[in-house]
Amino acid sequence: MRIREIKAKSVLSKSQVYDYALNPYVGCQYACVYCYAKFMKRFTGHTERWGEFIDIKINAPELLAHKVKKKQVGRVWISGVCDPYQPLEKRYMLTKRCLDILIENGWPFTVQTKSSLVLRDIGTLKRSKHAEVGFTITTADEKMRRIFEQGAPPLKKRIEALAKLHSEGIRTFAMIAPILPGAEGLVSALKGKVEYVILDRLNYHYADWAYKKYGMQWAMEDSFFSQKGEELNTAFEREGISCQVVF
Ligand code: SF4
Repeated sequence: MRIREIKAKSVLSKSQVYDYALNPYVGCQYACVYCYAKFMKRFTGHTERWGEFIDIKINAPELLAHKVKKKQVGRVWISGVCDPYQPLEKRYMLTKRCLDILIENGWPFTVQTKSSLVLRDIGTLKRSKHAEVGFTITTADEKMRRIFEQGAPPLKKRIEALAKLHSEGIRTFAMIAPILPGAEGLVSALKGKVEYVILDRLNYHYADWAYKKYGMQWAMEDSFFSQKGEELNTAFEREGISCQVVF
């Protein structure tokens, strides 16, 4: 793993998902095989494999403090192309410091992670009236998780973290993207822990080799996603959990 501290030039970028995206790190220690953020390597010049480098934007809080005074207030997605609570955040606390700045300036934000390290910052999150925290959970089957997200935290930890955040009054959601086999088990697992779920299909081809290696090409077909999407949508709505299907 190559870890570098860098001085970034910018920290708040325009986003197509929310108003802005904020990435305190370049790269992600979790190295999920389907990760679309691998495209970043084209722009950052990294030759290492995805998951084997992290650039730490040590000046991210200072840059953000400056930017929030100049830009129009909008919802910030944290992070988009890295996990803001990957293990290095424990030491560097860049995400936490950026949240402090957004809160002090009244900016709304949406945290998206796979890590229960976010629980460290419950006190911070509760200071915001407009915070929401989402966990990416693609399946309820640990065997699937180990194939596609081997470096990321176990599913049980993510679901427990959602339960804790929800019980603390923080708005929570689950991002089921890409839908993997075994996602149907999430309907009961997430009940009472999230306000809503978002469903998406596999949109990139980075993980094709894994589907082939495990004989699961059927789970990357259009028919799998349309059928599972419909089933999950119906099942979540039946449980009173609002569902956004984005494909
Ligand atoms: S946690 Fe998210 S950003 Fe990190 S490797 Fe996995 S999919 Fe990519």
